[in-house]
Parts: sequence; structure tokens; C-alpha cells
Amino acid sequence: MRIYLDHNATTPTDPSVVAAMTNVLGEQFGNASSLHSFGQAAKIIVDDARADVAGLIGAGPQEIVFTSGGTESDNLAIRGIAEALLPTKRRHLIATSIEHEAVLHTLTALAKRDWIATLLPVDGSGVVDPQALEAVITDDTALVSVMHANNEIGTIQPLAVLAAIAHRHGAIFHTDAVQSIGKMKVNVTDLDVDLLSLSAHKCYGPKGVGALWIRRGSRLVQTMTGGKQERNRRAGTENVPGIAGLGTAARLALQRTETEADRIAALRDILEAGILRRVSGTLINGDPTRRISNTTNISFDRVEAESLLIALDLEGIAVSTGSACSSGTLQPSHVLRAMGYSSHRAQNSIRFSLGTRNTAAEIDRVIDVLPNLVDKLRNTARASSVLTQQSSLDGG
Ligand code: PLP
Repeated sequence: MRIYLDHNATTPTDPSVVAAMTNVLGEQFGNASSLHSFGQAAKIIVDDARADVAGLIGAGPQEIVFTSGGTESDNLAIRGIAEALLPTKRRHLIATSIEHEAVLHTLTALAKRDWIATLLPVDGSGVVDPQALEAVITDDTALVSVMHANNEIGTIQPLAVLAAIAHRHGAIFHTDAVQSIGKMKVNVTDLDVDLLSLSAHKCYGPKGVGALWIRRGSRLVQTMTGGKQERNRRAGTENVPGIAGLGTAARLALQRTETEADRIAALRDILEAGILRRVSGTLINGDPTRRISNTTNISFDRVEAESLLIALDLEGIAVSTGSACSSGTLQPSHVLRAMGYSSHRAQNSIRFSLGTRNTAAEIDRVIDVLPNLVDKLRNTARASSVLTQQSSLDGG
């Protein structure tokens, strides 16, 4: 039995998405900008997908710009707004210290040029305090970017409250909703945001395609220059198969998010309770209630997370240590560090992120397998520290 518990890294492509994309790849090769019938057939596919993505977040189709994924959407939002406001005095950008690298590194790049960047702190459960935003925002702030749900711990931010503060100061509010789309209801009016990033592969669609929702009337400078595609907001021939896949994934998400979220949350809670009960020295990282339905992040005292990940993988169980983009390095997670955790606790944490295909039997198996693996790793660590002490006593 192979068990996939890394849905925040990427999701399996839904069979209906594969079918829609295969059809477009095989049959609908037209360029959506061409005036002939082949082009018009492709344009209909792109427009239908635009309506599906808009429908998922309660937006208008003309406000959706297709991109190559969450990273590009974040870049377009932040760089596009910053550049558009360059002629004004608004040169200040604010984000949280737990954003994805797509936001953090974009701010770092802009801070080397004409902009000033401020990162907001979070509390011990990963939530931004609105007072912290009040304390740093000024009438020179151009943009505030706060992610909806965090990819490592799943914590959900109070976006509407934060957006109201930004708007009071005349700033634009962007959210990276890559991890909340498909896991909870997301509505741009309720959230009161001006720009929203999403990515297809986090909600059972294909990799390499996403969208940025831009509130009608927002001024934004395009970052990809070239042709006039996407109403002059993102140049380049549209990725019609990918966009068809995203549209199908959006339709699916609209139909099943609420019912699936409850089922997945129940499995996540069983997994979490089972681990806390059966494995000593475990702690939940993040907010136990204010979080997306599929995620639990747990620290295992005296266990190197990378070793546990490999041991689980050998048992056919796929999990992650924090964000996929930073694994492969032994840097403790910037998210857990920002929450004030010691580097020890941050380095001992494993993220379990569930999805639509997970079953109760799979969760039972993980709870069965995990205690032994943790015991073995702790014993090995203890034995090697005894050996090290012994060899230093021996002068070795
Ligand atoms: N934002 C968040 C919160 C993410 O989790 C990710 C992916 O891990 C991204 C942005 C980047 O999205 P993409 O992989 O589509 O570029």
C-alpha cells in the first residue's frame, strides 16, 4: 500500500482533468488568438475555463488572468502593483514573515531597488495580529500581501480584518490563496481582497498553470511583455490544455470542497490524535482550530525530520518536512522559526497533508507504522551519542 500524504506539495491530477486536457491536446490545437475556427474553438475553451475559475471564487470572468502557476501569480500581483504605483509616493510593501518564497523573494528583490519592505511577525500559532499591521502601515504603503492559508502549518489568516486596515490607508491587498483553494470556500468579496493568486496543481489540476484574480479597475503593470493576450495583462500564447485542466479542477472544487473538507478533516483529526496518543514527545505546530482541513504539522522530539521522512518513504508513506521548496537543505523552516520555535523543534517537524483519495485504512496504517519508526530512530540517535561520548573518553 502506497500512501500519499503530501497534498500541500502537489495533488494527484483528477481523472476528469486528465480527460479534458487529453482532449484539448489531441483535438483542439488552435491558437486562442487566431480568427479562424480552430482559434475560435480554443478561445471558447479558454473563456469557459475563465468562467469556471471566476465562479469558484465569486469573481467576474474578465478579472481572471491565466499564468504559469502560483509563483507567477504572486510575482505579477506584487511587481505589477509596485510598478503601477511607482509614479506615486507609495513605495512601501508589507507581507508576513511566513509567506511562501514566491512572495518573500519578490519582496527581497524589490527592496534592492526603489521599494521598502516590511515583514509582519506572527504569533505562536502562526496568526498575524491586526495590531501588528496597524503599527507599520502608513499612507506610503502600496501593497499588503498576506497568504490565506499557510502551506506548512495550514493556519488561516483573518484576511477581511487585515484588508480593511490596508484599505483604510489606501493600500492594495493581495492574498496568496494557493493553499486554501479547493480546501475551503474562498470568496473574494467576503475576503475583501483586491488580488488573489491560485495554482492548479494544488487542487487536482495540472502543474504549470494558475491564475491571478485582479479586482476590476485595479492598475497593474504587466511583468511578461509581448503580445496582447489576457487583455494586455500577461503576454504569451495561452496554455490551452493547462487552462482547460485548471477550469475542470475549479468546477470540481466548487462541487466538492465543502463535503470533502469535512471528510478529510475527520481523517486528519484521527491521524493527529493517533500520533499524539501513540508517540511520546510529540507536539502540534500551528493553530489547532484555525487551519485548513487537510493539514497537520507535528514535531517529534529527538527525531531528525529528514530521517523520519526517509523511514516513512521506505514504508510507502509520503510526507514532507515543511515546504517542498526548501527541503533538500537542512535549514529549519522559516515559518516555524517565525512562530518563535527553537531550531530543534523546527527541524523535528513533519507535515502530513491529506487529500481526496486518502482512506481510513491508510490513516490506520500510518498510526500503526509510525511509533516503531520513531522508536528506532530515537534508539539509533541515543546509541550513536553514547558511542561518540565513549570515543571522546577513549581519546578517539
Ligand atoms: N504559494 C504557496 C502558498 C504555495 O504553497 C506554493 C507552492 O508550494 C506556491 C505559492 C507556488 O505555486 P506554484 O508551484 O504553482 O508556482
